[in-house]
Amino acid sequence: MFAPVAAVKVNKKIADRATEVLKRLKVIYPEAICELTHESAFQLLAATILSAQCTDARVNMVTPALFAEFPTAETLSVANVERVEELVRSTGFYQTKAKNLIGMARGVVDRFGGEVPSAIEDLVTLPGVGRKTANVLRSVVFDLPGLAVDTHVGRLSRRLGLTKEEDPVKVEYALNAMFPPQDWGGFGLRLILHGRRVCDAKKPQCQVCEFADICPSSELPRSKMAKSAGSKKPAAKKAR
Ligand code: SF4
Repeated sequence: MFAPVAAVKVNKKIADRATEVLKRLKVIYPEAICELTHESAFQLLAATILSAQCTDARVNMVTPALFAEFPTAETLSVANVERVEELVRSTGFYQTKAKNLIGMARGVVDRFGGEVPSAIEDLVTLPGVGRKTANVLRSVVFDLPGLAVDTHVGRLSRRLGLTKEEDPVKVEYALNAMFPPQDWGGFGLRLILHGRRVCDAKKPQCQVCEFADICPSSELPRSKMAKSAGSKKPAAKKAR
């Protein structure tokens, strides 16, 4: 298992940089928004499961029809898998995703009385739900501490010199130790926005980046930048 937050030692210089990064992120992105369209915890859970190896924009094209037909966990829990596959096909890995969506809905109905749970230990028992998805739910709909480490958060955390960890859970624990719990969710959501808009995996725009003066990667040759983006894992079939 990984060390609990209290046991993670944080280097003062890195902690100071992390504090500055968070401060600037709050100015650049005043709203810590999640770009997946949803109207309930259930819908965000379903949308996040669909977002594995897929863009939020694509998921947002698919979910209106999915939620029109299956607006609640109850309705999705008894859905025909082939119909769900048809609706989510364009998000990729559609067979696994359809199976996970129906399994998640059944779990919510059978074990949690139709209400999406907020405890991370409960959320990760649902099919297709890993720590990342659980933390998205916690921070976005429950207003609870939860730092979702996706590919953007991992890449930017490494480029900004906040951690050297590659494992998303280790990255989460390392970052959690640098911020108060109430900032965990907002930090992750804002870092995702910066990763999408400025610090692209292949072409980071250091010349216009507000962190260029404090980012240890800002002057690296492009070859090293690409390396710091981390390896892409074919993780679509894994829980998120
Ligand atoms: S300076 Fe460059 S590498 Fe550093 S966060 Fe900004 S875009 Fe990314």
